[in-house]
Amino acid sequence: MTPPALEVRNLHKRFGDLEVLKGVDLVAHDGAVISILGSSGSGKSTLLRCINLLENPNEGQIIVAGEEMKLKPGRDGALVSADNKQINRLRARVGFVFQSFNLWPHMSILDNIIEAPRRVLGQPKADAIAAAELFLEKVGIADKRHSFPAQLSGGQQQRAAIARTLAMQPRVILFDEPTSALDPEMVQEVLSVIRALADEGRTMLLVTHEMGFARQVSSEVVFLHKGQVEEIGTPEQVFEHSKSERCRQFMSSHK
Ligand code: ADP
Ligand code: MG
Repeated sequence: MTPPALEVRNLHKRFGDLEVLKGVDLVAHDGAVISILGSSGSGKSTLLRCINLLENPNEGQIIVAGEEMKLKPGRDGALVSADNKQINRLRARVGFVFQSFNLWPHMSILDNIIEAPRRVLGQPKADAIAAAELFLEKVGIADKRHSFPAQLSGGQQQRAAIARTLAMQPRVILFDEPTSALDPEMVQEVLSVIRALADEGRTMLLVTHEMGFARQVSSEVVFLHKGQVEEIGTPEQVFEHSKSERCRQFMSSHK
């Protein structure tokens, strides 16, 4: 049997005395689109950041395509990667799209996209450029390839950031509120790119406050409350037949 694209087991994360993740389990099979909902401060970003080790968890396992991350206790007691090559492999396999785009401001859009494929995957420049142009076309900004990030609208920058992530041929893409920093008129253009990725069977974890979108696009919805999975199920189960009172309250206050 093929292992899941991503599996998280018993993930714990503390910041000092504050326990932000209290044993989170999550499985994303190939093609799954899992939306993660929850109030501000419930641990959604920390969960995504721990998955690709932008934050070091205190306990738990992260398994990507069957390969378990080797972790060892670091100086502050949190677990750190025990293998530098493996962490590069993890970050190549698990793409991250941030709320604030995080493009390199001094590089053209094209250079932003080819940087990691060239350096991390060792792609020849011509191949990296050819691939980048396809991804730019896919997200609808092929005409911006020689522009710099500051010359693009927020929606275009986020689409460039998505193209940059795709260029690494990730197995899983994590989106952390990809439309929260955008002016309202730009939200749809980014959501429609994400929808197209879902339609082509990409495996994705999506933190979002766009409830209608999450409902339409997800194969599964997770409601996180104070660092724990309070509810998990199909969109219909979680949005309409939630067993948890907290989850029902959250849903009705985010309509
Ligand atoms: P969400 O994304 O669901 O809004 P976060 O994962 O960002 O929540 O944060 C969860 C909790 O962890 C919050 O109380 C937040 O203040 C705290 N937190 C997040 N990052 C840090 C950090 N680097 N240092 C200390 N506390 C943090
Ligand atoms: Mg967050």
